[in-house]
Amino acid sequence: MKAKLIDGNKIAAEIRAEVAERTAALSECGVTPGLGVVLVGEDPASRVYVGMKTRACEEAGILTRDIKPSENISQAELLTIIDELNDDPQIHGILVQLPLPEHLDETEVTERIHPLKDVDGFHPISQGRVAQGDQSAYRSATPAGVQELIKRTGVETSGAHVVIVGRSNIVGLPMSLIMLQKEAGANATVTVAHSRTKNLAEVTRLGEILIVAVGRPEMITGEMVREGAVVIDVGVNRVEDLTTDKGYRLVGDVAFDEAADRASWITPVPGGVGPMTISMLLKNTVAAAERATHLNALEQPSLPR
Ligand code: NAP
Repeated sequence: MKAKLIDGNKIAAEIRAEVAERTAALSECGVTPGLGVVLVGEDPASRVYVGMKTRACEEAGILTRDIKPSENISQAELLTIIDELNDDPQIHGILVQLPLPEHLDETEVTERIHPLKDVDGFHPISQGRVAQGDQSAYRSATPAGVQELIKRTGVETSGAHVVIVGRSNIVGLPMSLIMLQKEAGANATVTVAHSRTKNLAEVTRLGEILIVAVGRPEMITGEMVREGAVVIDVGVNRVEDLTTDKGYRLVGDVAFDEAADRASWITPVPGGVGPMTISMLLKNTVAAAERATHLNALEQPSLPR
């Protein structure tokens, strides 16, 4: 293997330590950052994710208020829960774990969260403000985590050709907007590829930085990677593996071994992008608490209305 590993666990731990310092500073002012966490129903994967997020919050000094309505909750009842969290001064950020059961309208729920408490960064106001270059806007956690991984690895992004495979609202699209920003860790020339892209391998081979968020196990083969590229694999896929106790293992969207023979840096799966997502949620939550208490003058937003 030629590439060096980008250690997401290590970088995520650094960010959590920084968050813990900020929560300690808030605590000296008598403020505990608060995150309202809404988990509807019993979806096993969602329960695991929410458990990881609340544990990470506790470790960083962030108070969580867990609300776990049954999966039969009505849209109106769920909106009332959001309204109560919006009005609660002890709650600085709100997280609604997605996906919601089918009878609920995710878009309406997401848009009901007050933009100043939108620490997941999924509200159209947050996403629109990111697109307009507003540095105070909340960035969604996964693409923000990818940018942080790249920055802290010391990779120069200014003027670099970044190719992103995937254009979803939670990863690919906001990732492209972040890498276009006029700021350190961005200023890139960005190409976004998706399922209709012709000659995908030709496009991916242009990427000095290749970010893949597709949801297809090991779809990006070694020959699709430019020599010396920095490869960031956002994908998390379960593939059957009867040699393991669980009967499966996790792989990314990139064929790791082949890509690592050509890349200069590469993220593993697991242990790459995954740990960053939770750390960036914590970072957004502590920023929300600082804004609410006017501790962070730089982050005073022009938000919201
Ligand atoms: P998604 O909403 O399903 O979007 C997938 C994107 O990939 C779409 O834009 C799609 O194109 C594109 N695509 C699908 N097949 C393709 C192909 N053959 N060639 C080129 N592009 C193709 O998925 P997502 O939510 O962005 O998630 C992507 C992956 O990241 C998943 O594995 C997910 O589990 C993982 N993920 C990880 C984290 C984390 O914290 N580590 C967080 C979020 C997501 P179209 O738009 O044309 O359909």
